[in-house]
Amino acid sequence: MKSDIEESLVLPETVKINEIFYSIQGESSLVGYPTVFIRTSGCHLRCTYCDTTYAYNEGEHLSIEEIIGTVKSYDPQYVCVTGGEPMLQKNIHTLLKTLCDMNYTVSLETSGDKDCSAVDERVRKIIDIKTPDSGEKNKFHQANLSEKIKNDVKTEYKFVICSMDDFDWAEEFCLKYDLFRSSRILYSPSYNKINEKWLAEKIISKNSKARLQLQLHKYIWNAQQRGV
Ligand code: SF4
Repeated sequence: MKSDIEESLVLPETVKINEIFYSIQGESSLVGYPTVFIRTSGCHLRCTYCDTTYAYNEGEHLSIEEIIGTVKSYDPQYVCVTGGEPMLQKNIHTLLKTLCDMNYTVSLETSGDKDCSAVDERVRKIIDIKTPDSGEKNKFHQANLSEKIKNDVKTEYKFVICSMDDFDWAEEFCLKYDLFRSSRILYSPSYNKINEKWLAEKIISKNSKARLQLQLHKYIWNAQQRGV
């Protein structure tokens, strides 16, 4: 028998989707959990370390009903909406709300350059803060540091560290906006650019309060492999 949510799923709105797949969450505080990934198509940024350049243009418009149908086929608990930049999609809030209404544990990965204030409060937000060596340092929506967002236990801010300068910049940024005390801070070494041991030791020696994050999926599978 269909649930009320399924019965009401007449959602003609579409979202441009690059890929949907089931894998292990490689990042954030949800690392390790089996997760369905919904990767949206399109991004307005061009980070130097981007590992999803194929998502810049490739994709097709799917109705939210079709997207939900694919998610359901995996019978997951965790669903991650990522990109590309999901916040560029006009109907992203409808998709996120629908997933939450269906009682999935929903996370959103975003570049940080778009306003997250309207994101459904049940969604865990992983918000990037672009460092100087990302090449997109000035692309950050400052209101994503509002008291409401930064004090939300479901918010995590992620810095991809590409150099010593990036590390120092991230530390200064977190101290300036009091993020270590209020929020979860993730430092992720830029893959193949920064040695993870170097970053781990830097966090310890500088007494940083950030949490080290490795992209677990890249250690399990080939780093270039798609759909994992
Ligand atoms: S925001 Fe993400 S998808 Fe966009 S260019 Fe940067 S790393 Fe790639």
